[in-house]
Amino acid sequence: MAESEVVLAATDLVRTFPTGSALSRSRVSAVDGVSLDLQAGQTLGVVGESGCGKSTLARLLVGLERPDSGTLRYRGTDVTAGRSRDRKLLRQGVQLIFQDPYTSLDPRMTVLELVAEPLAASRTGRPAQRRDRVAELLDLVGLDADMMARFPHQFSGGQRQRIGIARALALDPDVLVCDEPVSALDVSVQAQVVNLLGDLQRRLGVAILFIAHDLAVVRHIADRVAVMYLGRVAELGPTEEIYSRPRHPYTQALLSATPPATRAERGKLSRRRALTGEPPSPVDPPAGCRFHPRCWLATDECRTVVPVLRVPEGDHDHRRSACHHAEQLDPLPA
Ligand code: SF4
Repeated sequence: MAESEVVLAATDLVRTFPTGSALSRSRVSAVDGVSLDLQAGQTLGVVGESGCGKSTLARLLVGLERPDSGTLRYRGTDVTAGRSRDRKLLRQGVQLIFQDPYTSLDPRMTVLELVAEPLAASRTGRPAQRRDRVAELLDLVGLDADMMARFPHQFSGGQRQRIGIARALALDPDVLVCDEPVSALDVSVQAQVVNLLGDLQRRLGVAILFIAHDLAVVRHIADRVAVMYLGRVAELGPTEEIYSRPRHPYTQALLSATPPATRAERGKLSRRRALTGEPPSPVDPPAGCRFHPRCWLATDECRTVVPVLRVPEGDHDHRRSACHHAEQLDPLPA
């Protein structure tokens, strides 16, 4: 598969959920018109505050949720069209790594059963072949094959996440969707799991969608970054450009709350705006730009007109910002 081949592409994905009582039913939009693509062998980071729709997006991308509207293409095939054969392809080729390795593994199953389960479910190989494949997968994630008769509670958090990764790799997927894969782990273990994912990507060529609220972790692993706010993509582009020269006020504010990587960046960020207030409720989101109640650049246009993702003037076409005033945003205020 060529490096630049798009393996997974979401276009205008929308997912709403019912909310409220029987007397006042309404719908909350968790994901509202998200478009992004994932290229073979690359990592796309998705960042944003909790409640911005990151996890719902992850479940849409692996087929655990169906979108209300929009399309999802896996290797060029529209898997939202409802054909079971296409959805099966998606379930095999795109695997989810869960946030919490303590609850995502059935405590009554051995490591052998857990990692071999996707193989058994898809009737891949005989039991002896599955056992060999499990040994190979455990080796790949840095665990000893002798451990396959043990149960999840006999492992540390980091080891359990490795078991989850081995299980996700069992069917040789093209894409790993990692939903906050290290946020439940000790800080000392987080770097090991992130490095393992990077190593697996180099060895297997798998594409990774890495969802996190920790911007420093995403910077370390991602080639490109999508910044989400209240169910929409606020900014999308190459990681270093997003981090060194954000073109959306929300991205600037998020970065202001993150420890800078260098002394020069520390000077820049200290002069940026801090993020204040809580995100508005997704049940009744603000009109126009959803960030306008917290934005220091908001104008009447922002309060009424939804900004679309576009290339800011003077920028190159790899970068998109959903801000009416991206051009006025001084990345290095004097
Ligand atoms: Fe701020 Fe307006 Fe840009 Fe929204 S569109 S981020 S309110 S300047």
